[in-house]
Amino acid sequence: MDQTSVFIVSAPSGSGKSTLVERLLSSVPGLTFSISYTTRSPRGHEKNGQDYCFIRTEEFQAMIERGEFLEWAVLFGKDYYGTARHFLEEARRQGHDLVLDIDVQGAAQIKQKLPDAASIFILPPSREALGARLRGRGEDAEEVIQRRLGRAAGEIEDYCKYDYVIINDRIEQAAGKLCAIVLATRLTRQTAAGADPAANDPQAKHWLELAQACRTASINRHVQPILETFSSSLK
Ligand code: 5GP
Repeated sequence: MDQTSVFIVSAPSGSGKSTLVERLLSSVPGLTFSISYTTRSPRGHEKNGQDYCFIRTEEFQAMIERGEFLEWAVLFGKDYYGTARHFLEEARRQGHDLVLDIDVQGAAQIKQKLPDAASIFILPPSREALGARLRGRGEDAEEVIQRRLGRAAGEIEDYCKYDYVIINDRIEQAAGKLCAIVLATRLTRQTAAGADPAANDPQAKHWLELAQACRTASINRHVQPILETFSSSLK
């Protein structure tokens, strides 16, 4: 039986996903982060082999031909992004779980190949909050911010394809939820069929309840008002 769980995390740009993933990796042991390959240029302080493996388009295409990717996608009409199989193999060898920070297209490919993977969508609390965060980063011109907001409106409609949704209104709470999803998944995996994963363990019960509350079906009614802040801005 495969003891490695795969966690897919997706979000519109500016939703605080990188911070949440960093918190997860520093709080929960036994996780391997998959460093994606991309053909886009490094930004700011990004380091090759740490944030991404930056490669040329010809190299990326050769990797596709050799079947080295678990999934790959072309984003923004030009840049290739992909998850290399060797990260999953490495996680399996080490008995770790694997965390992927990938887009919606990649998430769908992984779910097809690995149906047990847990997919998590991070949502900003509103369009206004996302706009404020993007402006606060001071990285982009207003025109670029408007484009990112427009794209986010399309991306967030895909939230319903994910197993879990985390609304990132308060970073501490959102980080706690992400950790709880990972820990609850592990607990459930390690518990024999029919047994109670939280038997006599209040901490385990807390993780399971927190994770359950993030299930897409449980959180739907909280998501609708957020979607409305995005759709009303398109009118
Ligand atoms: P950025 O260029 O801003 O770092 O990332 C742009 C988008 O690419 C983000 O949504 C990120 O999750 C996604 N992404 C990063 N790595 C991969 C990957 O390996 N595969 C796919 N499909 N998407 C990725």
